Amino acid sequence: MTETTPPTAHVRYAYSPRQGASSRGGYHLLMNQRLDSGRLHRDAGDVLCQPRRDFWGLEPRPEVAADCTACVRLAERHGITTVQTCPPRGK
Ligand SMILES: [Zn+2]
Repeated sequence: MTETTPPTAHVRYAYSPRQGASSRGGYHLLMNQRLDSGRLHRDAGDVLCQPRRDFWGLEPRPEVAADCTACVRLAERHGITTVQTCPPRGK
């Protein structure tokens, strides 16, 4: 048994880096705090499936569910809880 707080993430909408008919944006999960889980290492504010710099936009959309399969899968595997609040700024 461990007493570590479960990691949390919230949903943000990101445009695809490449604009085109076949590539659309998606709802991704952004880490609310640093995560070191097995081989997965993310800083707070990182998109779960890929580093933040690969995305445009990243508008907070805490009221909707993530539809990025990679993000959702990683969250399930590493026990990340999706929350509907964004972390406070300046931390
Ligand atoms: Zn994603």
